[in-house]
Amino acid sequence: MIKSLIAANWKMNCSNEFVSEFFNDFDTSGISEAVELLVCPPALYIPRIVKADAVSVGGQDCSPHVKGAYTGEISAEMLKDSGCEYVILGHSERRQYHSETDDLICQKAEAAISKGLKTIICVGETQAERESGDALNIVTGQILSAVPASATPENCVIAYEPVWAIGTGLTAETSDIDEMHQEIKKTVQKHLASEAMIRIIYGGSVKPENAEEIFSLESVHGALIGGASLDPQSFLQIATHAK
Ligand code: PEP
Repeated sequence: MIKSLIAANWKMNCSNEFVSEFFNDFDTSGISEAVELLVCPPALYIPRIVKADAVSVGGQDCSPHVKGAYTGEISAEMLKDSGCEYVILGHSERRQYHSETDDLICQKAEAAISKGLKTIICVGETQAERESGDALNIVTGQILSAVPASATPENCVIAYEPVWAIGTGLTAETSDIDEMHQEIKKTVQKHLASEAMIRIIYGGSVKPENAEEIFSLESVHGALIGGASLDPQSFLQIATHAK
């Protein structure tokens, strides 16, 4: 069964106390068996989330290199060895603050897939690109360059995250989300020469109040959640709306 993926991106927000409080009253009994919960904490806290045993765990980035003299980097193998199942790649904050290109993201995805990690490859247009009518072209280009040939429905999820909707409280119109997800589906299938269905999740100010409407779209297979994922009850409420 292909599960919906409800993924928390905690970014650079965490502490030991935060982890304890988060899982203190973390009741997943209202969530469908068809939904997979994932938490991607800052790397230092991965072992603690793995130990909590309540969710799947993912990294927020990985090196394109296997090992060696790359100070400050974390390899895909290290994430896997620490108990991660997933890794987020190409988040817009990495593209913006660390100048990550689609080419680099593709190399990271190849490295991650080769070590048995599932990749969540992020794509999305800026406000200016949306306003100039270029959004579909921009995102299609990102997919063609950042998704490696080794991607399959088992090891790759695409996160469509309009940059202007991340952390701003703005969400895309459901018709725009649907149009983009359909386009991503077509592009991925053509790119990988396969009819197989890669999950496409939406991210950008998803919260309990808008989750039901977003998840009503057949083309949406889950969400990548930043701000609202820091509150366990909000995160769980969003997940209860997923199918
Ligand atoms: C994100 O960082 O991937 C994200 C979608 O953040 P937020 O939910 O806060 O917009």
